[in-house]
Amino acid sequence: MCSAVFRKFFVICPGKSRRTAATCPNADRYTSIADSHKSSNMVTEEQVRTFLTDHPHVLEDFVLDTVEMEQLERWLIRKSKQGKRLQETSLVDRKTSLSKWKFCVHADKRQMLQNLTHSLQDKPTQDYVLWELASCISSAVKADGFRLYMVDQEVPNQLHLHLGLDHKKNNTPKLQRMKNSVSIPSHVARTQQPVRFSRGLIDARFSENVINELHSEMAHIQCQPIVESDGKLIAVLELWRRESGGAFYEEDEEIAYSYLVWGGIALHYAHLYLNMNQQKSLNDFLLAVVKSIFQDMVSIDSLVIKIMNFAQRLVDADRASLFLVDARNKELYATIFDVGIGDDSTVEIRSHSSNDDEVRVHPSKEIRFPLGTGIAGQVAMTGEILNIKDAYADSRFNRAVDQLTGYTTHTILCMPIYIRGSIIGVVQMVNKHKGYFTKNDEEAFETFAVYCGLALHHAKLYDKIRKSQQKYKVALDVLSYHNTCTEEEFESALRTGIPKDSMGIDDYYFNPFELKDMDKAKYAMFMFNDLFGSGGFDQACLLRFILTVRKNYRRVPYHNWTHGFSVANSMYCIIKQANGAFNKNESLALYVGALCHDLDHRGKNNKFMLDTESPLAAIYSTSTMEHHHFNQAVTILQQEGHNIFSKLTNNDYKQVLGYLKHCILATDLALFFPNKARLGELVQTKTFSWNNSTHRGLIQAIAMTGSDLSANAKPWDIQVKTVEVIFEEFYDQGDAERAAGRMPIPMMDRQQTNQQASSQVGFLTGICIPCYNLLHTLIPETKALLDMCKKNLDKWSQIDEDMKQKK
Ligand SMILES: [Zn+2]
Repeated sequence: MCSAVFRKFFVICPGKSRRTAATCPNADRYTSIADSHKSSNMVTEEQVRTFLTDHPHVLEDFVLDTVEMEQLERWLIRKSKQGKRLQETSLVDRKTSLSKWKFCVHADKRQMLQNLTHSLQDKPTQDYVLWELASCISSAVKADGFRLYMVDQEVPNQLHLHLGLDHKKNNTPKLQRMKNSVSIPSHVARTQQPVRFSRGLIDARFSENVINELHSEMAHIQCQPIVESDGKLIAVLELWRRESGGAFYEEDEEIAYSYLVWGGIALHYAHLYLNMNQQKSLNDFLLAVVKSIFQDMVSIDSLVIKIMNFAQRLVDADRASLFLVDARNKELYATIFDVGIGDDSTVEIRSHSSNDDEVRVHPSKEIRFPLGTGIAGQVAMTGEILNIKDAYADSRFNRAVDQLTGYTTHTILCMPIYIRGSIIGVVQMVNKHKGYFTKNDEEAFETFAVYCGLALHHAKLYDKIRKSQQKYKVALDVLSYHNTCTEEEFESALRTGIPKDSMGIDDYYFNPFELKDMDKAKYAMFMFNDLFGSGGFDQACLLRFILTVRKNYRRVPYHNWTHGFSVANSMYCIIKQANGAFNKNESLALYVGALCHDLDHRGKNNKFMLDTESPLAAIYSTSTMEHHHFNQAVTILQQEGHNIFSKLTNNDYKQVLGYLKHCILATDLALFFPNKARLGELVQTKTFSWNNSTHRGLIQAIAMTGSDLSANAKPWDIQVKTVEVIFEEFYDQGDAERAAGRMPIPMMDRQQTNQQASSQVGFLTGICIPCYNLLHTLIPETKALLDMCKKNLDKWSQIDEDMKQKK
């Protein structure tokens, strides 16, 4: 076919130069044809070229009409090969060779393509694709057999003979390491140039021994490099024929080459796929690590075991150890080490005996050695990753450990773990199950190490938090012991008995100053039982609770137990007189809330707490003290034998605690204004409804404020006495502010006592009267509070007037 084409062509083109002739494989044949037509020489080659350049369709028509497909393909192979050589020197865009390759497959290679595509889809590993590719090429060039040599990516120039795929082991290749002396494949690997060779030929490149390396049937050989798109040699293919098959020619090389072009692309994608798969499994692995490490962070020890297990699985090591850095003593230490595969649940703890001079063993089975000692010590000191292929050949390796354990170390991969730029530990993985630790292992482990660092850092913090929590618990235990009522107080209160009658305590105008502290506690219990009955509540518990509440009021001038009791007393009066306005759970919260509403008050207001950067203000930025009062109340309820609500159902308990918080927080006067505004509007628009829980919350809040301020709604002598102690407390705060270099407001300034009356006028006008007005509107039974407050306002106004006139 080829000759036919040339014959036709050179009928009109006899002036063939030697140069062109040399490029044609059938040069000898066509020159003779050309010679025979010399006589009828009419057109020169130059003329033909010019003609064809000017009339490209003629060439195209001619080629399409006359040239066989197979010939076209060969030209293309040759052309693309030329293109490749060009590319190697001038880095021409790869696109050209790709498009040519694309053209190639139009030929009848569908089966091969299908097979390879299939294998790529199924098992896109490099080994698999290469094996398939090699089989295809072998049959395409009619070879009698082939050998595929894989290039060791870790050891340069090391070849492994591919013995086929192991179907039992997920089609992984069976590989046999080759001696470096295999001449022909080694030569091809080194030069990356193809070689054709026949038995009996003398080739200067190879010694005579080369014949001995060949199988007796191997008479003719063609050996080719398989190179990835980035120029990296990955394998060498050796095709062979028996004597009868004949020698390999350039055409065979070209055929093989055309397959390899396609194969290269397949391999490229196999590689990408593999990388992606590796990345994905690393991601999955890391995700599992993160989950496992952070989900149940129990202790450093359990974390260390987890890290070692993960590390081992990650790089397929036989054993792993983790050493932590003790920066103060410049030592590495481990309490658990040498975790072997499958030790998930039963961790083998091997401690080393102390007769080794470099390894010290502590009674707690902890081993310690100085930084710089052994492989791990080296890594901890330098931060350099060590990947050791033969431990015994490395002078840094400490053989003592092997001698003690009877274990033999071959390969080691040792990596530092960093947190915030400093090395906190070292993970050492020993004996990879197959071969050496690879670059991939190092890279995967480096990512893993970041998570280890974070996890260890967190575990340490967690440990610290747990310890401080324990300390806090101990402190709380001590405190609660001193802050709960003593058994003596309890017994004595029981002995003297709880009052049987009210003694006028159900009067809004009751004078709290009349009662001794202990009697106030007893009356607090009386009021509780009067409101809720003594049946549903453990009486001993109730008494203990009240005595402890009493104890938790500080001895400050105003916000003391007397105030707490007095507010509870006013709330008792409201609940009792406004019979049915509040339900049982609300009433419980209102009464207990009133009793507890100023627990542990320090005689200073919220602003003072904020100004002095008190820890309380740091915890609660708004309603600072009120949050603290509520928390104190809950703390008391939690003390043994103090939970007065223990007999409530779960739901009631939750509801009462919710109300309790709401009620205590409502005593923050800063909340009074918005509460008053909202409730005032509901009243004004006549939209207030006792059936609306939000509305009820508002009236609860106003009832709390009303009770808290009730000293201003008591008869004049009580009001005066209360105002006295209030100002005493105010002045104390003023003094403290002055001492801290701040100017107190006039109301708290000891040097401006003449401000008291006008302060009271302002306070009663701006807060108390509006509060009692609202309360009275919704609960008419509270009229007594409003009335007395008005009377007190009149008196303060009078005093204020008098003082102003005196000036
Ligand atoms: Zn109060």
